[in-house]
Amino acid sequence: MNNYPVVIIGAGPAGLTTAYELVKQGIKPLVLESSDKVGGIARTEIYKDYRFDIGGHRFFTKVGEVNQIWQEILKDDFIKVPRLSRIYYQDKFFDYPLSFKNTLSNLGLISSGLILWSYLKAKLIAAINRPDPQTFEEWVTHCFGERLYLTFFKTYTEKVWGIPCNKIQAEWAKQRIKGMSLKAAVFNLLFGKSKAKSLIKEFDYPILGPGMMWERCQEIVDDKGGEVRLHSKVIKLEREGNRITKIIAMCDGQLTEITGEHYVSSMPITLLLERLDPAPPETVLQASRSLSYRDFLIVSLIVDAADLFPDNWIYIHSPDVKVGRIQNFKNWSPKMVPDASKTCLGMEYFCSEGDEIWNLSDTELLDLASRELVQLGLVPAKVIEDGTIIRQKKAYPVYDRDYAKHLKVIQEYLEGFDNLQTVGRNGMHRYNNQDHSMLTAILAAKNIMGEKHDLWDVNTERSYHEEFTTEEWQKRKETESLGV
Ligand SMILES: Cc1cc2nc3c(=O)[nH]c(=O)nc-3n(C[C@H](O)[C@H](O)[C@H](O)COP(=O)(O)OP(=O)(O)OC[C@H]3O[C@@H](n4cnc5c(N)ncnc54)[C@H](O)[C@@H]3O)c2cc1C
Repeated sequence: MNNYPVVIIGAGPAGLTTAYELVKQGIKPLVLESSDKVGGIARTEIYKDYRFDIGGHRFFTKVGEVNQIWQEILKDDFIKVPRLSRIYYQDKFFDYPLSFKNTLSNLGLISSGLILWSYLKAKLIAAINRPDPQTFEEWVTHCFGERLYLTFFKTYTEKVWGIPCNKIQAEWAKQRIKGMSLKAAVFNLLFGKSKAKSLIKEFDYPILGPGMMWERCQEIVDDKGGEVRLHSKVIKLEREGNRITKIIAMCDGQLTEITGEHYVSSMPITLLLERLDPAPPETVLQASRSLSYRDFLIVSLIVDAADLFPDNWIYIHSPDVKVGRIQNFKNWSPKMVPDASKTCLGMEYFCSEGDEIWNLSDTELLDLASRELVQLGLVPAKVIEDGTIIRQKKAYPVYDRDYAKHLKVIQEYLEGFDNLQTVGRNGMHRYNNQDHSMLTAILAAKNIMGEKHDLWDVNTERSYHEEFTTEEWQKRKETESLGV
């Protein structure tokens, strides 16, 4: 009874997309999900009818196959949301990307002039010395100048990663910044509107939050004969050489043996390796122990005010508060709040399991978030009514100095398996968005159907960058209206 053609670990975007693609082909997989709901990090949580994401989840992709799946699943419940997200610094809102007029009026002539001077100095030094920046700090300073780095990059980046910018690899900066928003931002700041590229002006969003996409997907998989089992945690994967032979899962408190022809895992790759039996070679385990994660928690506050600010989210650069970003969920979809006269704000804290913020009690966190919201001058204390906290372990795979070397060892080991594929964000230790996770899942399903794709070759950059030239944006609009 517990034998399936395909067993999938995890019902986040990657696991469910694999199942969705397989049921389309008449294959009926089993999806094992440890938690009580689907969606993984892209789930929607609900507190007293207020709905919120684990961070705000934009649905944006340049990958046609992914967009098609989203449209198929949600149809008219997939709404277009105008994008507005600004930087909040020194009690002022800065346009994002930065604009010349707004920055000048917020910072004043002298500070803006110093930024320009420091930028020109960095360019001059770069032209003479041709530096080879190794860290995030060096990379950003060389590209944009020290002043801009200190004003708009340092504090926020250190909040996100919890380590000084001179300990973060330049590679990360290159991947996330190069050729995209912030470079355009600097260009905008210095020379007025960029003719080259600008950020997308709108994104898609499920009307009831991102979890809605994955709940619908679960229904489709179930309707077509697949099975999604919640409360089912994989605790062991037995192997004979390079074949998985059996999974042991704790399903609703019962130890359960499950067998399959093929296995697809989206659980964190480090946990997967720990749970293999017999254990992998020591070199692989060592590499796995060297990978790390950044955790995250969100304090959702219910506020008795109808309109606080028009942004979907704001970046908090002020070093005197710990909050990193604030989401305003009703500005993503009005249906995220049950009462239009109230607002639900998501105070996002980047942290590490066991650190000072992570260890605060719920009461202390509610107090901290409320205090910081008032300190920032965004609401008066008396209008904060209630709130709740969600802690998310392993929210971000960390790209530290040696992660790529360690991941390579793991990749080579896992590639040797006949019937196991790993997909998704933590499944492949890739700092990705949903679309990259889904693309690896689509390819994993195709491999099961007999095609040959290298999932490790799927580039996060292909799916990540949100920038378009006017022509690219126009082309995208035309393709969408043709239903492609
Ligand atoms: C703050 C934040 C904001 C983000 N914003 C965006 C955004 O705007 N747009 C976007 O597209 N993406 C965004 N992302 C990224 C997005 O959340 C991920 O790319 C996506 O959720 C990854 O999907 P996944 O299926 O690979 O992994 P996950 O979502 O992590 O799903 C893995 C699933 O596996 C389950 N699992 C783990 N271990 C086991 C086990 N032993 N047994 C059974 N099940 C197990 C987990 O419970 C989970 O449900 C954001 C992420 C964060 C942290």
